[in-house]
Amino acid sequence: MKPLQLISSLTLVAASIATLPSAFAQTASLEKASLGSDLIAQADHNETDKVSPRWLSLYGYSAVLPGGNYPWYFNPANLPSNLRLDDVVLTLQHAAGRWSQLCNVNLVYMGLTTTPPLNRVNGGYDRINVVGFIPFSSISANNNYAGLTYVGYDVGSPGEKPHTVIDVDIVLNANAPGGWNLSMLDGAMTHEFGHGLGLDHSQDPGSIMFAMPYHTADYDRVPRKDDVQGCSALYGAAPSQLSNRAMNWAESQYPNELKRLGTAPVTQTYDGYLYRYYPGSNAYVGTKNGRVYYMVGTTKPPQDMGALTDFWGQIDAAGF
Ligand SMILES: [Zn+2]
Repeated sequence: MKPLQLISSLTLVAASIATLPSAFAQTASLEKASLGSDLIAQADHNETDKVSPRWLSLYGYSAVLPGGNYPWYFNPANLPSNLRLDDVVLTLQHAAGRWSQLCNVNLVYMGLTTTPPLNRVNGGYDRINVVGFIPFSSISANNNYAGLTYVGYDVGSPGEKPHTVIDVDIVLNANAPGGWNLSMLDGAMTHEFGHGLGLDHSQDPGSIMFAMPYHTADYDRVPRKDDVQGCSALYGAAPSQLSNRAMNWAESQYPNELKRLGTAPVTQTYDGYLYRYYPGSNAYVGTKNGRVYYMVGTTKPPQDMGALTDFWGQIDAAGF
């Protein structure tokens, strides 16, 4: 049976995809489920079968969200009591925005919803993309998991490869060991949104989609070169991709000069600049017309650091 073959191939390419929960056993012939699952605890083994490219599609082939459009809602039920709703929504938007900055995708926050993340209608997907916290005991999931991404996709006509993602639900463990903070949420959700876009766990150890072992939540806030190649292959590059890759690299290279406080900086625009602001050092870094600029405070003009292309060798070599 084709569906069984599909499930088999999924378990081969994604080591952490186990059997699908019985609640998501499929009855509709045109819909299949895929599951990206994430342990908080680090796995104790490494992959040995490296291939190129190392990013992997969640489906074994390139199934995508139509037009790269990924509208998502947040269900505030079961929100951990130490987190403020406004902070959580902002953090989720930042995590989603990182992918929009790099690839031709539109992850758009649609607002709060009371629709449960794993809602089903008549046994099928409700086609509403929801992020929310639930106790993982309620879905018989390992309580060491931080997040799980459930993806439904259209199998298409007989003999045709699946090509359309129709439903993405991301659940976060309301009872995660050690609890939650915004940094952890930021990293976990950047990774989970990668699954939502159709990326499986990468074979590149530097990738934030790598999972054997998982990186820290802080590391996972910044998509790396392999992640960018993955989403670019599926959706194409965003116009701002090179600038954002450069700023991602600069943050890593100059943590004191570009010192963040709390949540990660967000790319903004002003007068033709794409830039980020770092309150810890009162500094700005940005690009405009292919040049790189750096500025401390606002009393002196931006300093021209050179052409973006001059940095490209370093950026690429550093894995951004
Ligand atoms: Zn994962």
